[in-house]
Amino acid sequence: MLKFFVDKVNFDMYNGKSVVMIIKLNDVLSVPDKAVEEDIELDFDSINIRGFDCAIKDATSLHYKLVNLGDNRCHIMIRCDLTIAVPCDRCLEDVDIPISIDYNEALNVSDDEDNQDLDDISYIREYQLDINMLIYEEVSLKLPMKILCKDDCLGICPVCGVNRNIKECTCDRKVPDPRMADALDMINDFFKEV
Ligand SMILES: [Zn+2]
Ligand SMILES: [Zn+2]
Repeated sequence: MLKFFVDKVNFDMYNGKSVVMIIKLNDVLSVPDKAVEEDIELDFDSINIRGFDCAIKDATSLHYKLVNLGDNRCHIMIRCDLTIAVPCDRCLEDVDIPISIDYNEALNVSDDEDNQDLDDISYIREYQLDINMLIYEEVSLKLPMKILCKDDCLGICPVCGVNRNIKECTCDRKVPDPRMADALDMINDFFKEV
């Protein structure tokens, strides 16, 4: 018996693709002490990270286990390993970033207004667990702050636009010393946040 259903709704964070995987928690919570455990395949192949459409290059099956703890409490365990191609902060070449999702939470999943367990959680509503949203949030949390193809990536020339790791150019740049790259990153990060 399938413990989840697949619904079709547009989702910005999956780049407008019609993919939503929902697990109905009621199936577990309606039976005392019930536990369900299953492997499912992810049905999306890219994810929107920092405004980029990032390909999921490799992903294990997603393993989940739900246990009814009583009183609307559910123990949720989710495991999945992903490799995502994310652009380098300096040169925009893809960097393979491995992400291990190992989610393990016991939560009150009721819709009661005073249920504080769901205050900071967007992926559980109306006794439904949105797997895609959970993955999106876990990936966002686990991504490194700075993504570089290599520590001494020379980045893109701000004048002519060439990838300076691949090609030299003779442009007159304000900051010719690659040791200044960290300072440039900080300035870029600052403007990204404004
Ligand atoms: Zn780079
Ligand atoms: Zn140049």
